[in-house]
Amino acid sequence: MRTVGGPTDHVVVVGAGLSGLACALHLLGAGRRVTVVERDPGPGGRSGRVDHGGFQIDTGPTVLTMPELADEAFAAVGDSLRSRVELLPLDPAYRARFADGSSLDVRTDGAAMEEEVRRFAGPAEAAGYRRLRHWLERLYRAQMRRFIDTNFDSPLQLLHPDLARLAALGGFGRLDRRIGHFLSDERLRRIFSFQALYAGVAPARALAAYAVIAYMDTVAGVWFPKGGMHALPTAMAQAAADAGGELKWSAEVTSLERSAGRVRAVHLATGERIACDAVVLSCELSTAHRLLGRSPRRVVPLKHSPSAVILHAGTDRTWNGLAHHTLSFGAAWERTFDELTRTGRLMSDPSLLITRPTTHDPSLAPPGRHLHYILAPCPNTAVGPSATKWRDLGPRYRDSLAAELERRGLDGFQDSVTEELLVTPADWTAQGHAAGSPFSVSHTFAQTGPFRPRNVVRGLDNVALAGCGTTPGVGVPTVLISGKLAAARITGGGRS
Ligand SMILES: Cc1cc2nc3c(=O)[nH]c(=O)nc-3n(C[C@H](O)[C@H](O)[C@H](O)COP(=O)(O)OP(=O)(O)OC[C@H]3O[C@@H](n4cnc5c(N)ncnc54)[C@H](O)[C@@H]3O)c2cc1C
Repeated sequence: MRTVGGPTDHVVVVGAGLSGLACALHLLGAGRRVTVVERDPGPGGRSGRVDHGGFQIDTGPTVLTMPELADEAFAAVGDSLRSRVELLPLDPAYRARFADGSSLDVRTDGAAMEEEVRRFAGPAEAAGYRRLRHWLERLYRAQMRRFIDTNFDSPLQLLHPDLARLAALGGFGRLDRRIGHFLSDERLRRIFSFQALYAGVAPARALAAYAVIAYMDTVAGVWFPKGGMHALPTAMAQAAADAGGELKWSAEVTSLERSAGRVRAVHLATGERIACDAVVLSCELSTAHRLLGRSPRRVVPLKHSPSAVILHAGTDRTWNGLAHHTLSFGAAWERTFDELTRTGRLMSDPSLLITRPTTHDPSLAPPGRHLHYILAPCPNTAVGPSATKWRDLGPRYRDSLAAELERRGLDGFQDSVTEELLVTPADWTAQGHAAGSPFSVSHTFAQTGPFRPRNVVRGLDNVALAGCGTTPGVGVPTVLISGKLAAARITGGGRS
């Protein structure tokens, strides 16, 4: 594994999102002096928090999987996630509601889920589910160590017996077809393939290897941190400070001072100069490239994932049919992905994620109130409406979403809203996210594994990259790994 050369005693980590914080903890654990500089007034980045009219709103991720990866970062400094955050396993992990009125609870326990599938679709599908679960477990084992939790220096690293194992498992076929080998019920197939959208790709085009995300949320389980998702970065920042890290808030890095192929210091908007031996850039990839003064040349320009509109609705009532996470599917499926990734139209028959964090933590809302987070995927601004168009379109789309929710059983939704916050690609653009998408570079084959933007920088000896724009990719588990991998580039620790 390539590691940075020369002294690495004092490392500056730019950005205190989940990747930057994970990196800081791993570096501190390896005995480095660490300074984290964050543009925002506090930690979290995309896993942020807004207090809106007494509602504590998580602005980013809501589905927490693989908490052991966060715990690994805490353990690096002799700390533990569970000593700082109360984690609740969600059962069901999701509730799926379909256009035909049927509904299924996704259970983490294998026997319970098999029973639920039997009730929902009969014994043949239950047997198919059992085989699918076994396949997901094997797929995860074949991929995690070799292809996800690893620093790539060359595509040749792929040439390993695990690649043959992955190929034998059908990992290089198409996701939807592979799921179809196990399940024939079209509704059930969606439960194990919609996750491709988390990777920014349609299930019909995603590699079957991406079923590893379905392993994470349907087999390994979904968790909720008491206090909301933002409790995770808050706890990580506290652990880093307790382990001797220096964390600077409202500290935007405006330039890197370079000489003789090394970054010698970072400069802040305040005029402060912080000398360093090495630097980790965990900010958005485009910001990292701007600070570095260049983007690596690529034959085909980077493609970004679809974006999302989020309606955060504080309400004076809620609905019994909702679980903590509810997937509300439209009847359309292939067309929906076509709209999101190709034609750039808004979903004509939307599939939505409705999260109600107050299900497990009522303190996130004022007494007697409820919080609903409605996520509607939408095209990014490279294929769909521009950020400028979204300024007009946003309120109209919000109204159509609210009407759709009423049609889908959330009767009285419009009248129940007492506080709300609408986030559209115009907001993601204003926050500096390329193509108006907070989900970064998509996981097409050409942008995956060793083909994804690397976490080392050619020509600069002491710089590593972390975050969702580099390896292994987008999502809470993967950015936690990216922080660890960036730290390993500096310390030489971890696996090669
Ligand atoms: C709406 C939404 C929903 C999501 N849902 C899920 C989900 O349910 N489950 C899941 O697993 N994943 C989900 N994700 C994905 C996951 O949240 C992200 O991939 C992850 O949080 C990104 O972390 P990061 O550290 O790469 O980037 P960030 O969180 O963006 O961290 C980068 C940090 O760098 C800072 N920064 C930028 N420029 C500078 C500068 N010049 N100087 C100093 N600091 C700077 C930023 O302020 C930021 O704090 C979701 C993301 C979003 C946005």
